[in-house]
Amino acid sequence: MTHATTPVPAGMRSPGARFWMNNKSMLIGCGVLVVLMIVVPFTASSSVMNIVVFAMIFALPAIGLNLLMGLAGQVSLGQAAFFAIGAYTHAILLTKLDLPGPVAATIGVLAAMLVALLVGLPLMRLRGHYLALATLGLGFIVMIGVREWDVTGRTTGIYGISRPTVFGIPIDNNGFFLWFVTPFVVIGLILALNLTRSRAGRALSAVNDSELAAESLGVNTYALRLKVFVLSAGFAGLGGVFYAYQVAIVSPSTSEFHLSVSILLMVVIGGLGSVWGAVAGAFLVQFLGEGMRDIIPAIFPGATGEVQLLGYGIVLILVILLLPGGLFQAATTLWQKLPFGGKRPPVDAHAHAAEDDTTIPQLPAVSTPVAAGEPILVISGLTKRYGGVVAVNDVSLSVPAGSILGLIGPNGAGKTTCFNMISGALTPTSGTVTFLGQVISGRKPHVAAAHGLTRTFQNLQVFTSTDVVGNVYMGRYRKGSAGVLRGMLGLQSSEQSAHRAASYEILASMRLTDAADDSASDLSFGKQRIMEVCRALAAEPALLLLDEPMAGLSGAERDVMAELLRRLRAAGLTIVLVEHDVAQVMSLADHVAVLDDGVLIAHGDPESVRNDPAVVVAYLGTDLDEAEAELIELEEHA
Ligand code: ATP
Repeated sequence: MTHATTPVPAGMRSPGARFWMNNKSMLIGCGVLVVLMIVVPFTASSSVMNIVVFAMIFALPAIGLNLLMGLAGQVSLGQAAFFAIGAYTHAILLTKLDLPGPVAATIGVLAAMLVALLVGLPLMRLRGHYLALATLGLGFIVMIGVREWDVTGRTTGIYGISRPTVFGIPIDNNGFFLWFVTPFVVIGLILALNLTRSRAGRALSAVNDSELAAESLGVNTYALRLKVFVLSAGFAGLGGVFYAYQVAIVSPSTSEFHLSVSILLMVVIGGLGSVWGAVAGAFLVQFLGEGMRDIIPAIFPGATGEVQLLGYGIVLILVILLLPGGLFQAATTLWQKLPFGGKRPPVDAHAHAAEDDTTIPQLPAVSTPVAAGEPILVISGLTKRYGGVVAVNDVSLSVPAGSILGLIGPNGAGKTTCFNMISGALTPTSGTVTFLGQVISGRKPHVAAAHGLTRTFQNLQVFTSTDVVGNVYMGRYRKGSAGVLRGMLGLQSSEQSAHRAASYEILASMRLTDAADDSASDLSFGKQRIMEVCRALAAEPALLLLDEPMAGLSGAERDVMAELLRRLRAAGLTIVLVEHDVAQVMSLADHVAVLDDGVLIAHGDPESVRNDPAVVVAYLGTDLDEAEAELIELEEHA
């Protein structure tokens, strides 16, 4: 077997050196931020200090929103609601119940997270615009709620929040407050950065690229989104807690819509998906806000604070037009243009040697819980109706372990619909799919994946936000165990490196090592198809569903794919193959099932199916007598 290794033999380094190598940029960045925050109180004017303190406070909700939008691809317009819940809860507990600051602050953050959990349970089922609208609605509910409720002080808010005392030192000026808030922002940054690089973070990016593909690799997209939504609210709640301390008053302005817009602007200006961008965005928006306060009245005499929104709107449009990736993209582009900033070095010399190797690489043996020849997949009475259209009509068949089943049929026969019901992408109208003795029909694709069933797609579902090895690495998702918490704490590096090494091995076995570091979207169509198969194989499935794997491939690429499928079967994998290339299916499959108009018209070995008159009718469109005559004629000519 050809082994590809990670760039540097990490195992030979000391733990300290390994930690430094893995976290170099994060540690340098955090170090620079800490030094700046230490120095600023000695050098900045009081107005600049004020802006910096608020920038650090708002960096927290911005980091949270960035996780939600940049990583999970969920647009929220309700971040101010969670900010206000944190601020109000903290203020009420401090002023009315006299609770100690840390206790009140913790409850404030937890309250924001609890509301997010309750709201997120139904909301996270919504997608795109609907979620944005629903979170906007939540923002209005909180805004109106705090204005109308006695406990929150109605329009006057809550006064008399005293500044905290740390180790007996009162935090009674902006300099001390900056030093007080900085460790929390740095810890928040580290947690968020760790999350983006973790198993959960990669899964979130994958969900953002293709929810269907991520689900089919075992990602429970709903649960993961919900966790990030709650986490994002926690960041906002913490920001609210510091805000309450800083201004000593919590008024309804903390929940207003324009605050959500400001936080959104911080994330967009900074660059969606970049945690550092969110912090930079928070600083820029704070300085911009201060500038707007002077500039807008100068341009529009008599304009009040609300007109500031106009300025934000203009900046937002300009950023989207000129810098769609925000400051982060601008900085990355600049860095790549620098002579020392260029591209990453190639992965390693061994990896490239793999392409010159003329021996056929081995594939890892597949361990299946059922013996070869025993049914691994049983489909019973499977039916799917779309109104009057019966896409799949009462299909029953079983697939023996270790074999290839070819599922063929003319266009519109119901192959993909059948496939989608097996993999969980569609719920059958009636009938069941039993895989390894478990009924999986009607469950989500991640449930099928958890049982060992993985698929590829007719319309490729590439994770475009990552490279080729990153795609295959995602295939390892269900082999890992680290969740959001472990990811944030960075407690999964050994698991990650093992899966990364396994991903390189799979790429090597398919002779794709040379492309490992290329962007997945830059690969040729044929290689993307092979990469999808690699990704599915990385999950070590017991059953692989391939939806038209030959579609769009050249003749040579088809032969490579066919050879690959034979090797996979030889390794013990069971495959269900939907394919239009009937000749390839007949030469590859152990059994062939033919669908026509949603009905299973033939099922058996390739030879008997090839000679079945009903199949000839389906493909040639003649009637049964003519088909039989044609068959006899064909046999006489053969
Ligand atoms: P092809 O080989 O062209 O991909 P197929 O054999 O995979 O076709 P399906 O895509 O499963 O066929 O479609 C089977 C039938 O169900 C077709 O008549 C199609 O128009 C219909 N169909 C599929 N999806 C839907 C839907 N969402 N709503 C209504 N009808 C649908």
